Amino acid sequence: MFFLELESVFNTPGLVEPFSFAMPASYDALPFAQPPVITGEVRNRAGVVTLQGTAQVQLATQCDRCADEFTHSIAVPLHHTLVLSLNNENTDDFVLLQGYRFSPCDLIWEDIILTMPPRILCNADCAGLCGICGTNQNIAPCNCIAPQPENTDTITPFANLKDII
Ligand SMILES: [Zn+2]
Ligand SMILES: [Zn+2]
Repeated sequence: MFFLELESVFNTPGLVEPFSFAMPASYDALPFAQPPVITGEVRNRAGVVTLQGTAQVQLATQCDRCADEFTHSIAVPLHHTLVLSLNNENTDDFVLLQGYRFSPCDLIWEDIILTMPPRILCNADCAGLCGICGTNQNIAPCNCIAPQPENTDTITPFANLKDII
């Protein structure tokens, strides 16, 4: 578990403490290619202490459309205001600490989970799998005859002939 020691930051307006760590292996509910790397800083700006930074996440995942396995990188922005006590503020806007020694892992884990897209595609233009033969159309388009959308504009030259005869 990674801990920040925040006593000097809370007590020193203007102080900036950079930090960097890899997410502990126990946070493994997502298929990471490697543990997320967190870089950021804790800063005291006129008495307000903020934590900001980025979690670099690499998922070893499958494309939702073609099932191809690939590594998907996501940079999760982190921005939180840390407080030692609350005065009727909305707790959603602040992270209430139990003391100066604080592990940001749960907080950052929540940021990561909330940022994950519901669908991940290998490529925005992924052509997906053929619905008939299952071939990956990104690699080798197959010759299956895709069902054609009905074209009501087609004019058959002899269509009216039936009515005349
Ligand atoms: Zn794909
Ligand atoms: Zn096919």
